[in-house]
Amino acid sequence: MKSNASGSSTYRSLAQQRARVATSLGVASVQRLADICEAVKGIAADLSFDHDGRTRVKVSGRAHCDAQLACHRCQELVWCHVICDFDSVIAFDEEQAASWSRLDPNLDILVVGGANLDVAELVEDELLLSLPERVCTDEDCVHMPEMRYGEMTVDDIVDQVSTEGLKRFPFAGLKEAMRAGDKEQD
Ligand SMILES: [Zn+2]
Repeated sequence: MKSNASGSSTYRSLAQQRARVATSLGVASVQRLADICEAVKGIAADLSFDHDGRTRVKVSGRAHCDAQLACHRCQELVWCHVICDFDSVIAFDEEQAASWSRLDPNLDILVVGGANLDVAELVEDELLLSLPERVCTDEDCVHMPEMRYGEMTVDDIVDQVSTEGLKRFPFAGLKEAMRAGDKEQD
């Protein structure tokens, strides 16, 4: 079942219908995410509701967006595709969440503020947690300071270390012999 997000649907009724909700969200509905990023677009969620076998409401699916973030290294603004997958149960208050968590510490629990579906509430925190810590890596950052150019790659370093290891090995015995010779002279 595919439907547009409806504000009047309760989580419980969605679970009973085993409903699938595919919807896009406006930036204004995820204000905290919008505040952290330079820009956000393409916010969408595709969530399926069900019961988890213990009468709890289960939500699974995916939310994604395109977020523009500032690279901490090069200060460039980079667009990142942010994806988060859902496989959680829904708790209606913190107490409920805490008691479930005590019984099953691995359970992924989303706490919601009301009985009615609020897609933005469900996905905003998860998207925030899925934002990358670094938006460009040393390798693909085209705005790295010039001193970084010419640096060895990990492969180069591994090659050099193993070559040095081989070079040193034949002399290891020689060094010991020389030290022994020094001691004899003392
Ligand atoms: Zn960068």
